[in-house]
Amino acid sequence: MIKQEYNDHLRVLPGKKIHLKDFDTGWTQIEGLKEYGKDKLKEHVNILLQQNLVELTSAQQLLYADDRYSLLIIFQAMDAAGKDGTIKHVMSGVNPQGCQVFSFKKPSDEEMNHNFLWRYMKNLPERGRIGIFNRSYYEDVLVVKVHPELLKNLPDGKRNSAFWENRYEDINTFERHLVRNGTVIIKFFLNVSKEEQKKRFMDRLMRPEKNWKFSAADLSERAYWTDYMHAYEEAIRVTNTESAPWYIIPADNKWVTRALVADIITSTLRGLELKFPKLSEAQLEMLDEARKTLEAEA
Ligand code: AMP
Ligand code: MG
Repeated sequence: MIKQEYNDHLRVLPGKKIHLKDFDTGWTQIEGLKEYGKDKLKEHVNILLQQNLVELTSAQQLLYADDRYSLLIIFQAMDAAGKDGTIKHVMSGVNPQGCQVFSFKKPSDEEMNHNFLWRYMKNLPERGRIGIFNRSYYEDVLVVKVHPELLKNLPDGKRNSAFWENRYEDINTFERHLVRNGTVIIKFFLNVSKEEQKKRFMDRLMRPEKNWKFSAADLSERAYWTDYMHAYEEAIRVTNTESAPWYIIPADNKWVTRALVADIITSTLRGLELKFPKLSEAQLEMLDEARKTLEAEA
């Protein structure tokens, strides 16, 4: 396990004002790690990642057998921060039957005709399952806050700070409801720097096999970088609660992102003290009978 202190460092403290500028997008901020040097650290971190992936496989089976909790993992980030790749790697060892990934794009007309939480509510993980949201209802206080013209069909009223406060409150209430009903929530913000995003966009433009990943909107949204950072800071501050914590994950190095995300997911599952269901006397007797029947067959 990556030392608890590093995880604590990534977990945003409830009620604390945050400035994303203070969060390192690489991983040099952490004193205890500097001494390793990059190559050694990478090697060490990759071993930890592999261990966590193995643990995650069995933790998921237990989550399924235990059948009391579901796990909702939310990924939010600027474009090219590595959401897709992180999901792919971290979930590589997980049984597909116990895990679902939903990617939320621009809402459809039907979705726009409902309250903003509707489409997410419909796709929440069942008890015993892991549900991954690649983007989420947070978009409704991020991209929509940066582009309020996206708000349509709502009753009249000012789209001022009180409007957004109300949306944060809706989200907090919604998450509280989920947690009280057995959903464990983890929220990741993959924190990529503007320079690294440029590098990754350039890579997508220069390499034919990566061209498909680039969309013109990526560039136009980049122009709103500062607005997005403010929207993220505000949303994270207000919706960062004890029971639905935010983690700000350095995202300029993919190996760092993957290892930290895997570690936080496994330690969260470990904390649930999941157990295989205990059979009742009657069930044990039934198993005994079944065994005898099979033995008598020959
Ligand atoms: P991608 O994840 O790169 O495929 O892009 C999905 C796009 O959908 C992004 O530009 C998001 O900002 C946009 N999007 C996701 N959720 C919403 C939403 N609730 N309202 C408006 N746009 C959204
Ligand atoms: Mg994109």
